[in-house]
Amino acid sequence: MRSVYMIVGKHPRMWVTAVMALSAILLYGGVNQLLEDRTVLTFSGVIQDKVVAIDPGHGGEDGGAKGTRGTQEKVVNLLIAKKVVDQLNQAGGKAILTRENEDNVSVGPWSQRSELTKRVEKAQGANALVYVSIHANSFPMAPACQGPQTFYQPGSAEGKRLALHIQKEMTKRVGNKDGRQAKAEDYFVLRMTKCPAVMVETGFLSNAAEEALLLRDDYQEKLAQGIATGIARYLGGEPAEEPKGAATDQAPGGFIPEVDRAVSPGLLDS
Ligand SMILES: [Zn+2]
Repeated sequence: MRSVYMIVGKHPRMWVTAVMALSAILLYGGVNQLLEDRTVLTFSGVIQDKVVAIDPGHGGEDGGAKGTRGTQEKVVNLLIAKKVVDQLNQAGGKAILTRENEDNVSVGPWSQRSELTKRVEKAQGANALVYVSIHANSFPMAPACQGPQTFYQPGSAEGKRLALHIQKEMTKRVGNKDGRQAKAEDYFVLRMTKCPAVMVETGFLSNAAEEALLLRDDYQEKLAQGIATGIARYLGGEPAEEPKGAATDQAPGGFIPEVDRAVSPGLLDS
């Protein structure tokens, strides 16, 4: 301690300058970090009264993918979707869920087509500006596959902008070790909606560690915050930057995951 006093005593001005410079650097970093970490609440201006449809994928008779310990995709989807709606509405939005519980949405004999059609009709009836369908992935052939990924309809510039924002905001909050990027993919539900639509795969239930994370309330909250903030940036008209070096979504081991075939067009268009 003595030596420190001696140095300060010899060069007081130098020390004041150094401390001021350091404070300025820390303050600048802190403000920058705050701007980066903006939550959806800071976007209330652009979300105000905007109708957004959040679709918890699967539900009712359709459980969706199954996790390594038996987690049903539909359950996780609904939990995350509810959190997204809460966050948007706390910021003044008018987000709606296409399903609110585990009942089938369509009436009469169940089919995947009638179920998806009913949900899109619900969103269109409410004049939703965007449609975000929430899913969880599964690829048991490569259990190391992990991370969130967002899909948009090929040729939809607005869908792409929405997907890029959501992908970036999710990645910022939960990471993405496999480097998954927003990707164009032809899905029935994306093709049917008149407004820009995306499908969000929040993570892989076939990866035991990620399955455990997806069941955690705080992790669901982070994903929901990423999705809601991405939607807010889209609604605010922010341009989305293409990811640098647009990496592949190729899974480790050279596999390309067959993402959520249950809602793929192949199954429904046959
Ligand atoms: Zn799904």
